[in-house]
Amino acid sequence: MKRAFDPSHLMDITPRPDLVFVRGDASWVWDQKGRRYLDFVQGWAVNTLGHAPACVRDALAQQSALLVTPSPAFHNEPAIALSELLCRHSDFDQVFFTNSGAEANEGAIKLARKWGRLHRGGAYEIITFADAFHGRTLATMSASGKPGWDRMFSPQVDGFPKARLNDLPSVQALIGRQTVAIMLEPVQGESGVQEATPEFLHGLRALCDRHGLLLIFDEVQTGVGRLGRLFGYQHFGVVPDVITLAKGLGGGVPIGALLARRDACVFAHGDQGETFNGNPLMCAVGLAVLHEVLADGFLDRVRTTGEHLGVRLRELSDRCGAGSARGVGLLRALDLGQPLAAAVVAHAREHLALEGTADGAGLLLNAPRPSVLRFMPALTVTPDEVDLMVDGLTAAVSAAGSAV
Ligand SMILES: *Cc1c(COP(=O)(O)O)cnc(C)c1O
Repeated sequence: MKRAFDPSHLMDITPRPDLVFVRGDASWVWDQKGRRYLDFVQGWAVNTLGHAPACVRDALAQQSALLVTPSPAFHNEPAIALSELLCRHSDFDQVFFTNSGAEANEGAIKLARKWGRLHRGGAYEIITFADAFHGRTLATMSASGKPGWDRMFSPQVDGFPKARLNDLPSVQALIGRQTVAIMLEPVQGESGVQEATPEFLHGLRALCDRHGLLLIFDEVQTGVGRLGRLFGYQHFGVVPDVITLAKGLGGGVPIGALLARRDACVFAHGDQGETFNGNPLMCAVGLAVLHEVLADGFLDRVRTTGEHLGVRLRELSDRCGAGSARGVGLLRALDLGQPLAAAVVAHAREHLALEGTADGAGLLLNAPRPSVLRFMPALTVTPDEVDLMVDGLTAAVSAAGSAV
């Protein structure tokens, strides 16, 4: 069949379905043929307020008419205001803005190594974790715990010994003279929503305090309300020395951030920079998104709707003996217990007609593992939309199950 579009000049880096998306509104997105989908992927946990929220459109329109990029070597108002707001609502003192999560993590790695040079006799190793995901630059691939990722483009960056999540002795065993930091996602996202336990995170904090190490949380996915608190560490009650943000911070536009406590802010002039870092256009959007997330009742609603999603997923897994449901806030997963996740995702997108939608809408889901589905809706998703998704998911699971 001839396609109505030609993507052949795009590097083919991932299998993409034969769809072109043209428009979105809150929890819904439309393809070029006019088919509508309920979106529980939301740009990979990026669209904090759903598709095309008014505050993002207004911030882009207003700021783009004023000032887009003065150069990172000059101050601008939105960057100052956003750094001030982030620090006021967190335990951190200073911010470095980036364009992406991987760059924020690269910054955290550089900051830790600089800190090791100043305070730990040149120590540079950062203990990271099996199945972790920290990005796709050379260093962050090495820091990630996907098997083989530290050698895919070798020679890569070394100094990232791997421990196991929720296994404190596995961390302890790796601490040595060269250790400078421990870095992890408080909830591993790409590995299929694997939560660190509060006890484990408290244990890491104690280890870092005892050995004089930095504790770094990669909150690229868990930050900005995703777990029902502004930052994931607040959900667990463990304060790290450094966190990184991206995804949800821009509500759909590219911006990341590296936040650190004052004694860890050791970059000297020339150590760190980026052409687009802290540009007013993206910072104005970050400000608008953060103001919405901090508005009265917003995070309460994320927690309530997240609980509702958790209950509905557990019901589904109990009813069809599918496996288990897990997660926090609006970052959830369903383990199907068998490798059906890709088939469920394809069925939900291509063949499903969501019940009660006059136009027979489809459903967008994500399968981070062969048997695991991940749910990362807009933080503004409604309980009714959650119900609509779970009903559609139930149908898709049974269709995929009977097809094997
Ligand atoms: C997505 C993600 C990254 C990488 O962010 P990019 O913006 O794609 O570079 C890093 N860490 C975590 C935990 C993520 O979920």
